[in-house]
Amino acid sequence: MFEDIPVDVSPMYEGERIRAANMFVELAGPKSIGAELVQVKEDVEDGKIEVVGPNIDEMKEGKIYPFGILVEIKGEKLEKELEGVIERKMHELCNYVKGFMHLNQRDQIWCRISKETKEAGFKLEDLGKALSALYKEEFPIIESMSIRILTEKSEVESFIETARSQYEQRDARSRELSEEDVDVFYGCVMCQSFAPTHVCVVTPDRTALCGAINWFDCRAAAKMDPDGPIFEIEKGAVIDDVKGEYENVNAAVAEKSQGTFDRVYLHSVFGHPHTSCGCFEAVAFYIPELDGIGIVDRDFKGETPLGIPFSAMAGQCSGGKQIEGFAGLSLEYMRSPKFLQADGGYERIIWLPKDIKSSLEGFIPEDLMDKIPTDEDANSIKEIRKFLQDAEHPIMERLKETESDKAESP
Ligand code: SF4
Ligand code: ZN
Repeated sequence: MFEDIPVDVSPMYEGERIRAANMFVELAGPKSIGAELVQVKEDVEDGKIEVVGPNIDEMKEGKIYPFGILVEIKGEKLEKELEGVIERKMHELCNYVKGFMHLNQRDQIWCRISKETKEAGFKLEDLGKALSALYKEEFPIIESMSIRILTEKSEVESFIETARSQYEQRDARSRELSEEDVDVFYGCVMCQSFAPTHVCVVTPDRTALCGAINWFDCRAAAKMDPDGPIFEIEKGAVIDDVKGEYENVNAAVAEKSQGTFDRVYLHSVFGHPHTSCGCFEAVAFYIPELDGIGIVDRDFKGETPLGIPFSAMAGQCSGGKQIEGFAGLSLEYMRSPKFLQADGGYERIIWLPKDIKSSLEGFIPEDLMDKIPTDEDANSIKEIRKFLQDAEHPIMERLKETESDKAESP
Protein backbone atom coordinates (compact mmCIF):
# COMPACT_ATOMS: atom_id res chain seq x y z
CA MET A 1 0.00 0.00 0.00
CA PHE A 2 2.87 2.37 0.77
CA GLU A 3 5.45 1.29 -1.85
CA ASP A 4 5.99 4.81 -3.14
CA ILE A 5 6.58 6.34 0.28
CA PRO A 6 10.30 6.36 1.21
CA VAL A 7 9.76 5.43 4.87
CA ASP A 8 7.78 2.75 6.69
CA VAL A 9 4.16 3.40 7.61
CA SER A 10 2.77 1.24 10.39
CA PRO A 11 0.96 1.43 13.74
CA MET A 12 4.19 0.23 15.35
CA TYR A 13 5.62 3.75 15.05
CA GLU A 14 2.77 5.32 16.96
CA GLY A 15 4.60 5.82 20.25
CA GLU A 16 7.74 7.16 18.57
CA ARG A 17 9.07 10.40 20.04
CA ILE A 18 11.38 12.66 18.12
CA ARG A 19 13.71 14.47 20.49
CA ALA A 20 15.36 17.75 19.59
CA ALA A 21 18.68 16.04 18.90
CA ASN A 22 17.15 13.78 16.28
CA MET A 23 14.83 16.35 14.77
CA PHE A 24 15.26 17.77 11.29
CA VAL A 25 12.47 20.35 11.54
CA GLU A 26 9.54 21.20 13.73
CA LEU A 27 6.13 22.08 12.25
CA ALA A 28 3.54 24.21 14.07
CA GLY A 29 3.78 23.75 17.86
CA PRO A 30 4.15 26.24 20.68
CA LYS A 31 6.79 28.31 18.88
CA SER A 32 4.90 28.61 15.61
CA ILE A 33 1.36 28.32 14.27
CA GLY A 34 -0.67 25.53 12.75
CA ALA A 35 -3.99 23.73 12.48
CA GLU A 36 -5.67 20.68 11.01
CA LEU A 37 -9.14 20.52 9.58
CA VAL A 38 -11.35 17.90 7.97
CA GLN A 39 -14.21 19.08 5.80
CA VAL A 40 -16.95 17.12 4.10
CA LYS A 41 -17.43 18.63 0.63
CA GLU A 42 -19.59 18.08 -2.42
CA ASP A 43 -16.75 18.36 -4.87
CA VAL A 44 -13.56 16.55 -4.04
CA GLU A 45 -10.91 15.55 -6.53
CA ASP A 46 -9.82 12.15 -5.29
CA GLY A 47 -6.10 11.63 -4.79
CA LYS A 48 -5.16 15.28 -5.17
CA ILE A 49 -2.31 16.23 -2.85
CA GLU A 50 -1.09 19.78 -2.88
CA VAL A 51 1.78 21.38 -0.98
CA VAL A 52 1.80 25.15 -0.60
CA GLY A 53 5.05 26.59 0.72
CA PRO A 54 8.50 25.13 1.33
CA ASN A 55 8.74 21.33 1.22
CA ILE A 56 11.00 19.30 3.53
CA ASP A 57 14.02 19.45 1.21
CA GLU A 58 13.70 23.24 1.08
CA MET A 59 13.63 23.60 4.85
CA LYS A 60 16.62 24.37 7.05
CA GLU A 61 17.71 21.90 9.68
CA GLY A 62 16.65 22.81 13.22
CA LYS A 63 14.10 25.41 12.12
CA ILE A 64 10.41 25.67 12.92
CA TYR A 65 7.77 26.22 10.23
CA PRO A 66 4.05 27.06 10.21
CA PHE A 67 1.98 24.04 9.27
CA GLY A 68 -1.58 23.40 8.14
CA ILE A 69 -3.34 20.24 6.95
CA LEU A 70 -6.68 20.51 5.21
CA VAL A 71 -8.38 17.22 4.36
CA GLU A 72 -11.45 17.35 2.15
CA ILE A 73 -13.61 14.27 1.91
CA LYS A 74 -16.64 13.11 0.03
CA GLY A 75 -18.85 10.07 0.39
CA GLU A 76 -22.50 9.25 0.12
CA LYS A 77 -22.75 8.30 3.77
CA LEU A 78 -20.50 11.05 5.09
CA GLU A 79 -22.21 13.55 7.34
CA LYS A 80 -20.84 16.89 8.41
CA GLU A 81 -21.12 15.66 12.01
CA LEU A 82 -18.36 13.14 11.34
CA GLU A 83 -15.77 15.80 10.60
CA GLY A 84 -14.67 16.20 14.20
CA VAL A 85 -14.05 12.52 14.77
CA ILE A 86 -12.33 11.94 11.44
CA GLU A 87 -10.16 14.97 12.14
CA ARG A 88 -9.24 13.63 15.60
CA LYS A 89 -7.92 10.48 13.96
CA MET A 90 -5.27 12.55 12.17
CA HIS A 91 -3.14 12.39 15.30
CA GLU A 92 -2.95 8.61 15.31
CA LEU A 93 -2.57 8.18 11.55
CA CYS A 94 0.20 10.78 11.15
CA ASN A 95 2.11 8.96 13.86
CA TYR A 96 2.09 5.75 11.80
CA VAL A 97 4.64 7.42 9.52
CA LYS A 98 8.13 6.53 10.68
CA GLY A 99 9.99 9.65 11.71
CA PHE A 100 6.93 11.87 11.76
CA MET A 101 5.61 12.92 15.15
CA HIS A 102 2.21 14.52 15.67
CA LEU A 103 0.91 15.85 19.00
CA ASN A 104 -2.39 17.43 20.03
CA GLN A 105 -5.27 18.51 17.80
CA ARG A 106 -7.07 21.35 16.07
CA ASP A 107 -5.00 24.58 16.20
CA GLN A 108 -2.76 23.08 18.88
CA ILE A 109 -0.93 20.59 16.68
CA TRP A 110 2.81 20.16 17.07
CA CYS A 111 4.80 18.02 14.63
CA ARG A 112 8.40 17.00 14.03
CA ILE A 113 10.25 15.23 11.26
CA SER A 114 13.32 13.20 12.10
CA LYS A 115 16.69 13.55 10.38
CA GLU A 116 16.56 9.94 9.10
CA THR A 117 13.19 10.45 7.52
CA LYS A 118 14.39 13.61 5.79
CA GLU A 119 17.51 11.72 4.61
CA ALA A 120 15.29 8.98 3.18
CA GLY A 121 13.83 11.59 0.85
CA PHE A 122 10.50 12.05 2.61
CA LYS A 123 8.38 14.92 1.26
CA LEU A 124 5.14 16.43 2.47
CA GLU A 125 3.33 14.76 -0.43
CA ASP A 126 4.30 11.46 1.16
CA LEU A 127 2.51 12.45 4.34
CA GLY A 128 -0.52 13.21 2.20
CA LYS A 129 -0.29 9.84 0.44
CA ALA A 130 0.00 7.98 3.72
CA LEU A 131 -2.91 9.85 5.26
CA SER A 132 -5.08 9.31 2.26
CA ALA A 133 -4.51 5.54 2.22
CA LEU A 134 -4.82 5.14 5.99
CA TYR A 135 -7.94 7.23 6.19
CA LYS A 136 -9.70 5.25 3.49
CA GLU A 137 -8.79 2.02 5.18
CA GLU A 138 -10.01 3.30 8.53
CA PHE A 139 -13.21 4.89 7.23
CA PRO A 140 -14.46 3.00 4.18
CA ILE A 141 -17.29 5.52 3.82
CA ILE A 142 -14.74 8.03 2.53
CA GLU A 143 -14.99 7.74 -1.25
CA SER A 144 -12.84 10.67 -2.36
CA MET A 145 -10.19 12.58 -0.53
CA SER A 146 -7.92 15.49 -1.32
CA ILE A 147 -5.26 16.97 0.92
CA ARG A 148 -3.69 20.42 1.07
CA ILE A 149 -0.58 20.83 3.18
CA LEU A 150 0.51 24.38 3.96
CA THR A 151 3.86 25.66 5.19
CA GLU A 152 3.66 29.20 3.83
CA LYS A 153 3.09 31.54 6.76
CA SER A 154 0.35 33.75 5.28
CA GLU A 155 -1.50 30.71 3.91
CA VAL A 156 -1.35 29.01 7.29
CA GLU A 157 -2.59 32.18 8.98
CA SER A 158 -5.70 32.44 6.86
CA PHE A 159 -6.25 28.69 7.10
CA ILE A 160 -6.21 28.93 10.90
CA GLU A 161 -8.92 31.59 10.72
CA THR A 162 -11.13 29.28 8.65
CA ALA A 163 -10.40 26.32 10.88
CA ARG A 164 -11.24 28.24 14.05
CA SER A 165 -14.59 29.32 12.70
CA GLN A 166 -15.35 25.67 11.89
CA TYR A 167 -14.33 24.53 15.38
CA GLU A 168 -16.50 27.27 16.86
CA GLN A 169 -19.52 26.18 14.81
CA ARG A 170 -19.11 22.60 16.02
CA ASP A 171 -18.72 23.68 19.64
CA ALA A 172 -21.61 26.13 19.60
CA ARG A 173 -24.04 23.42 18.53
CA SER A 174 -23.37 21.34 21.54
CA ARG A 175 -23.82 24.34 23.84
CA GLU A 176 -27.54 24.29 23.09
CA LEU A 177 -28.01 20.93 24.80
CA SER A 178 -27.40 19.84 28.34
CA GLU A 179 -27.20 16.55 30.22
CA GLU A 180 -30.87 16.64 31.18
CA ASP A 181 -31.92 16.84 27.53
CA VAL A 182 -30.45 13.55 26.39
CA ASP A 183 -30.74 9.85 27.25
CA VAL A 184 -27.34 8.85 25.97
CA PHE A 185 -23.78 9.92 26.75
CA TYR A 186 -20.71 8.66 24.96
CA GLY A 187 -17.37 7.23 25.88
CA CYS A 188 -14.13 7.41 23.88
CA VAL A 189 -11.07 5.22 24.33
CA MET A 190 -9.03 6.45 21.38
CA CYS A 191 -6.27 7.56 23.74
CA GLN A 192 -5.84 4.15 25.36
CA SER A 193 -2.98 3.51 22.95
CA PHE A 194 -0.85 5.56 25.33
CA ALA A 195 -3.08 5.95 28.40
CA PRO A 196 -4.46 2.41 28.82
CA THR A 197 -6.90 3.16 31.65
CA HIS A 198 -8.23 6.43 30.23
CA VAL A 199 -11.89 6.70 29.30
CA CYS A 200 -13.36 9.98 28.13
CA VAL A 201 -16.97 10.53 29.03
CA VAL A 202 -18.64 12.98 26.68
CA THR A 203 -21.93 14.65 27.52
CA PRO A 204 -23.51 17.73 25.95
CA ASP A 205 -22.01 19.68 28.86
CA ARG A 206 -18.65 18.03 28.92
CA THR A 207 -16.89 18.15 25.58
CA ALA A 208 -14.01 15.67 25.60
CA LEU A 209 -10.90 16.98 27.29
CA CYS A 210 -8.95 17.07 24.02
CA GLY A 211 -11.45 19.73 22.99
CA ALA A 212 -11.86 18.07 19.61
CA ILE A 213 -14.86 15.80 20.20
CA ASN A 214 -18.26 16.89 21.39
CA TRP A 215 -21.50 15.03 22.00
CA PHE A 216 -22.72 15.43 18.41
CA ASP A 217 -19.41 14.19 17.02
CA CYS A 218 -19.68 11.12 19.23
CA ARG A 219 -23.24 10.46 18.18
CA ALA A 220 -22.23 10.44 14.54
CA ALA A 221 -19.15 8.31 15.19
CA ALA A 222 -20.98 5.70 17.28
CA LYS A 223 -23.62 5.41 14.59
CA MET A 224 -21.05 4.99 11.84
CA ASP A 225 -18.94 2.45 13.72
CA PRO A 226 -20.71 0.90 16.73
CA ASP A 227 -17.67 -1.29 17.46
CA GLY A 228 -15.22 1.58 17.24
CA PRO A 229 -13.46 3.53 19.98
CA ILE A 230 -16.46 5.79 20.56
CA PHE A 231 -19.42 4.06 22.17
CA GLU A 232 -22.81 4.80 23.65
CA ILE A 233 -23.46 4.97 27.37
CA GLU A 234 -27.15 4.87 28.24
CA LYS A 235 -27.49 7.64 30.77
CA GLY A 236 -29.50 5.54 33.19
CA ALA A 237 -29.84 6.38 36.87
CA VAL A 238 -28.42 9.59 38.23
CA ILE A 239 -26.49 9.12 41.45
CA ASP A 240 -25.63 12.78 41.98
CA ASP A 241 -26.67 15.37 39.45
CA VAL A 242 -24.46 18.10 40.93
CA LYS A 243 -21.26 16.10 40.95
CA GLY A 244 -22.31 14.50 37.69
CA GLU A 245 -22.21 10.89 38.85
CA TYR A 246 -24.21 8.34 36.86
CA GLU A 247 -24.61 4.63 37.48
CA ASN A 248 -24.03 3.61 33.88
CA VAL A 249 -21.09 5.95 33.45
CA ASN A 250 -19.43 4.32 36.44
CA ALA A 251 -20.12 0.89 34.99
CA ALA A 252 -18.79 1.83 31.54
CA VAL A 253 -15.65 3.39 33.00
CA ALA A 254 -15.07 0.30 35.16
CA GLU A 255 -15.38 -1.96 32.14
CA LYS A 256 -13.23 0.12 29.80
CA SER A 257 -10.55 0.88 32.38
CA GLN A 258 -10.20 -2.84 33.08
CA GLY A 259 -11.54 -2.28 36.56
CA THR A 260 -9.03 0.43 37.49
CA PHE A 261 -11.72 3.02 38.21
CA ASP A 262 -15.36 2.51 38.98
CA ARG A 263 -16.52 6.00 39.92
CA VAL A 264 -16.33 9.27 38.03
CA TYR A 265 -17.58 12.71 38.91
CA LEU A 266 -17.98 14.64 35.70
CA HIS A 267 -18.17 18.02 37.37
CA SER A 268 -15.65 18.01 40.19
CA VAL A 269 -11.90 17.87 40.71
CA PHE A 270 -12.43 16.21 44.10
CA GLY A 271 -13.30 12.67 45.08
CA HIS A 272 -13.36 10.86 41.77
CA PRO A 273 -12.43 13.32 39.04
CA HIS A 274 -12.48 12.35 35.37
CA THR A 275 -9.31 10.55 34.25
CA SER A 276 -6.77 12.48 32.15
CA CYS A 277 -4.89 11.05 29.19
CA GLY A 278 -2.42 13.65 27.99
CA CYS A 279 -4.20 15.68 25.35
CA PHE A 280 -6.29 17.91 27.58
CA GLU A 281 -6.42 21.54 26.54
CA ALA A 282 -6.22 22.73 30.13
CA VAL A 283 -5.87 21.45 33.69
CA ALA A 284 -7.93 22.48 36.69
CA PHE A 285 -5.81 22.24 39.84
CA TYR A 286 -6.63 22.66 43.49
CA ILE A 287 -4.75 25.35 45.41
CA PRO A 288 -4.99 24.10 49.01
CA GLU A 289 -3.68 27.27 50.70
CA LEU A 290 -6.66 29.22 49.39
CA ASP A 291 -9.10 26.36 49.01
CA GLY A 292 -9.66 27.47 45.44
CA ILE A 293 -9.08 26.11 41.96
CA GLY A 294 -6.74 27.40 39.28
CA ILE A 295 -6.85 26.68 35.57
CA VAL A 296 -3.87 26.51 33.24
CA ASP A 297 -3.91 25.79 29.53
CA ARG A 298 -1.38 24.36 27.14
CA ASP A 299 -0.51 27.74 25.64
CA PHE A 300 0.48 29.29 28.94
CA LYS A 301 4.25 29.25 29.19
CA GLY A 302 4.89 30.69 32.65
CA GLU A 303 4.72 29.09 36.06
CA THR A 304 1.39 28.37 37.70
CA PRO A 305 0.74 29.36 41.33
CA LEU A 306 1.78 25.80 42.26
CA GLY A 307 5.29 26.79 41.17
CA ILE A 308 5.39 24.53 38.12
CA PRO A 309 4.56 25.18 34.47
CA PHE A 310 1.76 23.49 32.52
CA SER A 311 4.13 20.87 31.09
CA ALA A 312 5.23 19.63 34.52
CA MET A 313 1.68 19.59 35.81
CA ALA A 314 0.51 17.72 32.72
CA GLY A 315 3.24 15.16 33.32
CA GLN A 316 1.99 14.55 36.84
CA CYS A 317 -1.67 14.12 36.07
CA SER A 318 -1.74 12.46 32.64
CA GLY A 319 -1.46 8.84 31.55
CA GLY A 320 -5.03 7.82 32.35
CA LYS A 321 -4.87 8.42 36.08
CA GLN A 322 -7.54 9.78 38.37
CA ILE A 323 -5.80 12.25 40.65
CA GLU A 324 -7.76 14.07 43.27
CA GLY A 325 -7.35 17.81 42.97
CA PHE A 326 -6.53 17.70 39.25
CA ALA A 327 -8.70 17.33 36.17
CA GLY A 328 -7.77 17.66 32.53
CA LEU A 329 -10.44 19.49 30.61
CA SER A 330 -11.32 21.20 27.38
CA LEU A 331 -11.71 24.95 27.11
CA GLU A 332 -15.20 24.36 25.77
CA TYR A 333 -16.20 22.67 29.03
CA MET A 334 -15.48 25.99 30.72
CA ARG A 335 -18.39 27.43 28.74
CA SER A 336 -20.85 24.94 30.19
CA PRO A 337 -23.15 26.00 33.04
CA LYS A 338 -22.12 22.74 34.70
CA PHE A 339 -18.43 23.63 34.66
CA LEU A 340 -17.09 22.17 37.94
CA GLN A 341 -20.47 22.92 39.44
CA ALA A 342 -19.96 20.58 42.39
CA ASP A 343 -16.93 22.62 43.43
CA GLY A 344 -18.68 25.97 43.09
CA GLY A 345 -18.08 26.67 39.41
CA TYR A 346 -16.50 30.06 38.77
CA GLU A 347 -16.97 31.05 42.40
CA ARG A 348 -14.21 28.58 43.18
CA ILE A 349 -11.85 29.70 40.40
CA ILE A 350 -9.11 31.89 41.76
CA TRP A 351 -6.52 32.04 38.99
CA LEU A 352 -6.29 31.56 35.26
CA PRO A 353 -4.19 32.87 32.37
CA LYS A 354 -5.33 36.18 30.93
CA ASP A 355 -5.91 34.84 27.40
CA ILE A 356 -8.27 32.15 28.69
CA LYS A 357 -10.13 34.64 30.79
CA SER A 358 -10.75 36.98 27.90
CA SER A 359 -11.88 34.07 25.70
CA LEU A 360 -14.52 33.27 28.33
CA GLU A 361 -16.20 36.61 28.38
CA GLY A 362 -19.93 36.03 28.52
CA PHE A 363 -19.40 32.64 30.18
CA ILE A 364 -17.75 33.70 33.43
CA PRO A 365 -20.56 35.31 35.47
CA GLU A 366 -20.29 39.06 35.09
CA ASP A 367 -20.01 39.80 38.79
CA LEU A 368 -16.99 37.51 39.04
CA MET A 369 -15.16 38.71 35.97
CA ASP A 370 -13.09 41.33 37.82
CA LYS A 371 -12.65 39.21 40.92
CA ILE A 372 -10.63 36.40 39.38
CA PRO A 373 -6.95 37.27 39.00
CA THR A 374 -4.93 36.29 35.93
CA ASP A 375 -1.18 35.90 35.46
CA GLU A 376 -1.08 39.64 34.90
CA ASP A 377 -2.50 40.37 38.34
CA ALA A 378 -1.01 37.79 40.64
CA ASN A 379 1.11 34.67 40.51
CA SER A 380 2.17 33.60 43.98
CA ILE A 381 -0.26 32.40 46.63
CA LYS A 382 0.44 35.60 48.56
CA GLU A 383 -0.33 37.85 45.60
CA ILE A 384 -3.45 35.90 44.76
CA ARG A 385 -4.70 36.11 48.34
CA LYS A 386 -4.21 39.86 48.32
CA PHE A 387 -5.98 40.25 44.99
CA LEU A 388 -8.93 38.11 46.11
CA GLN A 389 -9.20 40.14 49.30
CA ASP A 390 -9.12 43.49 47.51
CA ALA A 391 -11.57 42.33 44.86
CA GLU A 392 -13.87 40.71 47.42
CA HIS A 393 -13.90 37.37 45.65
CA PRO A 394 -16.57 35.10 47.24
CA ILE A 395 -13.90 32.55 48.12
CA MET A 396 -12.60 34.87 50.83
CA GLU A 397 -15.81 34.41 52.82
CA ARG A 398 -15.46 30.68 52.52
CA LEU A 399 -11.82 30.83 53.49
CA LYS A 400 -12.51 32.95 56.56
CA GLU A 401 -15.09 30.42 57.69
CA THR A 402 -12.83 27.41 57.26
CA GLU A 403 -9.89 29.21 58.83
CA SER A 404 -11.92 30.23 61.88
CA ASP A 405 -13.27 26.66 62.10
CA LYS A 406 -9.70 25.42 62.21
CA ALA A 407 -8.76 27.96 64.88
CA GLU A 408 -11.68 26.86 67.03
CA SER A 409 -11.18 23.14 66.78
CA PRO A 410 -8.92 21.72 69.51
FE1 SF4 B 1 -11.10 10.36 22.63
FE2 SF4 B 1 -10.76 11.54 24.93
FE3 SF4 B 1 -8.65 10.90 23.48
FE4 SF4 B 1 -10.24 12.93 22.74
S1 SF4 B 1 -8.95 12.80 24.59
S2 SF4 B 1 -9.47 11.29 21.43
S3 SF4 B 1 -12.22 12.10 23.36
S4 SF4 B 1 -10.08 9.48 24.44
ZN1 ZN C 1 -6.10 11.89 24.95
